[in-house]
Amino acid sequence: MTAGIMELFDAGKKGRGLRAKKEINTGEVLLAEPSYAAVVFNSLASQVCHSCFRRQANLHRCAQCRFAHYCDRTCQTACWEDHKQECAAIRKLGTAPNENIRLAARLLWRRNKDQGLASDSQLVAVDQLQDHIKDLPEDELKKLATDVKNFLRYWSCGTKQHPAEYISHIFGLIKSNGLTLPDQRGLQSAGLGLFPNLSLINHDCWPNCTVTLNHGNQSAVSSTLHSPLRIELRALGKISEGEELTVSYVDFLNVSADRQKQLKERFHFDCSCDHCSQHISDDLMAAAAEGKPSADVVKEVTAFSKETLEKVEKARKDGDHSQVLKLCQECLEKQENVLADTHLYKLRVLSVLPEVLSYLRRFAEAAEYAGKMVEGYTKLYHPNNAQLGLALMRAGVAHWHAGLVEVGHKMICKAYRIMMVTHGPNHSITKDLESMRSQTEVELKVLKENVLDMKNLPMTSSSSADENMKDFLRKQ
Ligand SMILES: [Zn+2]
Ligand SMILES: [Zn+2]
Ligand SMILES: [Zn+2]
Repeated sequence: MTAGIMELFDAGKKGRGLRAKKEINTGEVLLAEPSYAAVVFNSLASQVCHSCFRRQANLHRCAQCRFAHYCDRTCQTACWEDHKQECAAIRKLGTAPNENIRLAARLLWRRNKDQGLASDSQLVAVDQLQDHIKDLPEDELKKLATDVKNFLRYWSCGTKQHPAEYISHIFGLIKSNGLTLPDQRGLQSAGLGLFPNLSLINHDCWPNCTVTLNHGNQSAVSSTLHSPLRIELRALGKISEGEELTVSYVDFLNVSADRQKQLKERFHFDCSCDHCSQHISDDLMAAAAEGKPSADVVKEVTAFSKETLEKVEKARKDGDHSQVLKLCQECLEKQENVLADTHLYKLRVLSVLPEVLSYLRRFAEAAEYAGKMVEGYTKLYHPNNAQLGLALMRAGVAHWHAGLVEVGHKMICKAYRIMMVTHGPNHSITKDLESMRSQTEVELKVLKENVLDMKNLPMTSSSSADENMKDFLRKQ
């Protein structure tokens, strides 16, 4: 790890934390940590590589357990040390247990092999992480007990036995510290991993760092240049020496009371960050439109929006695009002149519409709504928030496809600048943005030249130039 950059310290009420040992620049990588243990979700076991977590077609199956899948030999070989015992256990049991059980077993195999610290750069032994078992509600405890029972059957082929209490502790710490790992496009959750150093970083709703998953590089010709799957922690802005490093465990686009509730339920602490205690932006996220609609109307539309958003969620799950579209447009009509453009319920509708309209290839409408979404997001999010970057990318693509190349190009450039900070230059999303940036740049140049040409053409042939232009636009 980058041991000279940060250190453990006593963060008071929050327990231990990490702080900067020197001044840090925007976008600087503070931590690059391979997973201590990671597993692909059972539901995606044959669609996501168990080594690099890339989602792709035609994965190769492990011939022995027939459960693990890999891109190719390189990925399989890289992962064999971690899969060896798992492979034998799955064969013996005849089926693969759920992802929590597989992760717990992988963690313990690794723990028994390394005897505590995996390397000098690991700041805390993995089984010293907090489990928060005493905070779990009754139903969660029941689930945990079932997992422990099933774990012991799966583990029976392991050499070293552990008391059930210790196994409960491992399940508890996975629940509190496990990180959901996205696929390479950041579109879908693909699995679950444990990163002990990252677990030491405390939460702030307005953090100074952000975490991304780097899927590593297995394609280099020389195996010495291969790099494993790892998380990367980057600075969202300048950080001064001695400042605590923080990340956000929840999306900022919730009013402070809702964020606090989520954090309490999922991570068992009361957030007292500045944004929560001063309720920063709560007013904007729940604001009424400028024309001062009556309190009753605002209340009614808010309730209607909440209800509709639930229906939208259901229709999306069912893949019913026309229903999603109908519900969203109805809702937006009701919200007009009642809720402000930064109201969360309006932004949630605006974030769904471009997706479904793009799917239906109605790009002009998609672009219009995406533009509004980005405007609202810009007023609420930190300027280097990755969600803002992704939204700008979606909006940029929608404008581009609608033939609005100039606006699209500008949005793509903005998204690229944010992703350079949050994801770094080698991430596949940043690379996608880079190629879209050059493509739109070329198209923009061609468009401008065409316009100049048209001005110089004699009147009689201008109509054919016009046709060319329309043709060109249609191809977008
Ligand atoms: Zn792979
Ligand atoms: Zn296997
Ligand atoms: Zn907070």
